[in-house]
Amino acid sequence: MSNEAYKGIFVFAQQVDGKLSNVALELIGKSKALAKDLNTEVTAVVLGNKISHLPEQLGRYGADRVVIAEDPILETYTTEPYAHVITEIVKKYQPEIVLYGATAIGRDLAPRISARVHTGLTADCTSLEIEEGTGNLLMTRPAFGGNIMATIACADFRPQMATVRPGVMQRLTPVDNAHPVVDTFSVPDLAEHVNVEVVEVIKKVSEKMDIQEANVLVSGGRGMGGPENFKLLEDLAEVLGGTVSSSRTAVDAGWVEKDRQVGQTGKTVRPNLYIACGISGAIQHLAGMEESDVIIAINKDPSAPIFEVADYGVVGDVMKILPLFTEQVRKAKEEKSNA
Ligand code: FAD
Repeated sequence: MSNEAYKGIFVFAQQVDGKLSNVALELIGKSKALAKDLNTEVTAVVLGNKISHLPEQLGRYGADRVVIAEDPILETYTTEPYAHVITEIVKKYQPEIVLYGATAIGRDLAPRISARVHTGLTADCTSLEIEEGTGNLLMTRPAFGGNIMATIACADFRPQMATVRPGVMQRLTPVDNAHPVVDTFSVPDLAEHVNVEVVEVIKKVSEKMDIQEANVLVSGGRGMGGPENFKLLEDLAEVLGGTVSSSRTAVDAGWVEKDRQVGQTGKTVRPNLYIACGISGAIQHLAGMEESDVIIAINKDPSAPIFEVADYGVVGDVMKILPLFTEQVRKAKEEKSNA
């Protein structure tokens, strides 16, 4: 079949417990811009059980059309039933682009579907564009440890497929009264595709704010010296109403949990304020935070690369500066509330 026969942009709208993942909404936002260049529509594909409330939500964030597949077997994610249903949807609708979030689920699913429909997949993209003239999707991702960005096109096969890192694209402001076209996909008998039984789902409970949701991040690196000094970061985060994140070094050293890591192999964040404390600014770290609205860096080395992306830089010892910084914010807040 020629490439021209494939139409539309499909987004796998991951949901867990009936709640859409942020990356699904981000991908719909990005797809709207791509669809404009291609003069086509954005379709969200959502699988699950008892999820009839989701199409309207997907429409509010920009989906023109929603393909919904409901079945008790699809209630909790397992590889084979999901891979089978999405493969059948892709075969039926022949989209020209299919996007997935680079989540644990998306990373499990996307390569299987690309293999089954015999096309390529670019994993972990940080940028997507339509190439003028050819209409190909240009998929950009870090390569060679993040030292170069590689732009990949899948010129000969359709659909073009990519997984995209959460937090990189921006969701649209939701609109009221969205009425996307809803297609109910009639799910084939999945019994023969069930090769794993989910006995129990144990949820990790974190009392801390997700770093991708926070407006303010106070982030620590090797320069914090040890886990005991992360208390200084927590104090500042608390007065600013934010949370603590970190570089990979602090995670690898066991000072903080992996879910706090910002960067190429951690999370991509875009807070209003990012305060980098004792972080050198390696390219793999910058990849996860340089889109923050305002960046403040505190580092004792004036030539640290972090200062190249910082809006404000403080050269000095974090151990001395952080308590003063926290105290000043506290005072300013008190003065404001007494005024
Ligand atoms: P360092 O580079 O050691 O920097 C410490 C900084 O603290 C220095 O600039 C120093 O001047 C300053 N300092 C020391 N003491 C003080 C003090 N008392 N006061 C003020 N400043 C002080 N890294 C990530 O962060 N996220 C990732 O996702 C990630 N993914 C990677 C993926 C790959 C494939 C590879 C190869 C690397 C990855 N890295 C990642 C690692 C990255 O290359 C760096 O090694 C790491 O970011 C460095 O962490 P850091 O800035 O905390 O430590």
